[in-house]
Amino acid sequence: MVLALLLTLGTQSTFAGEYGPAVEGEWVVVDAEMPEDTGLSGCSATYLQDGVVLPDLPLFYTRIVPDAAWGTQEMVDLIVESARHTRWLMPDASPIIIGDLSVRYGGFLSGHKSHRGGVDADIGIYRRGRWQPTNRFDDLSAKDFDPEANWLLISTMLQTGKIDMILLDRSHIATLRSYTVKSGLLTAEEADYIFVSDGGSAHWERTGVIRHAPGHKSHLHVRVLCGDGSKAGG
Ligand SMILES: [Zn+2]
Repeated sequence: MVLALLLTLGTQSTFAGEYGPAVEGEWVVVDAEMPEDTGLSGCSATYLQDGVVLPDLPLFYTRIVPDAAWGTQEMVDLIVESARHTRWLMPDASPIIIGDLSVRYGGFLSGHKSHRGGVDADIGIYRRGRWQPTNRFDDLSAKDFDPEANWLLISTMLQTGKIDMILLDRSHIATLRSYTVKSGLLTAEEADYIFVSDGGSAHWERTGVIRHAPGHKSHLHVRVLCGDGSKAGG
């Protein structure tokens, strides 16, 4: 795309003001080859600008608290696309439970350390039988956790390329890792790249996309990247 750049020559140029002359100095137009402007931008983990509400699509998912279902465009797109794809892969599965994203303009949300910038969402996991409750999260034991259904959901999300990280309890991570490697869906090397199953408290700083965090036996905490692919800033 050819972008017209306005360059000013001279030392006393000013922008158009209410009182003074529009421009002092000499303006020239220069054509320069610039990268295509994608319109994609960075985002914040602490406030939400240009938030989008997750639409009500009961065939695909249920929102527990619609007032806390605001996110960035990337987050909303991720949930809709993943839920749609997951339903196509598993038409017999129950709709996914969607917990809190963020409130309309972001900021503090009761019960969470994060969920302030529209880049975090709590998403239900499948109990064996591809089943999720309709309006709450239930802690699942390792034997209740459905590795096949949950891997379909998670891998669908990963394939969008929009995921920064996913937090989940280490027992479920271990189950997923074992399932994907034993069934040949991932090599051990690929699994090591995706899963961090050894826990640790500083989970926000860990490498690996899927990481342990306490309090995540009932749902995934998903953080998305910004539209330009960067991580959400402060
Ligand atoms: Zn969360």
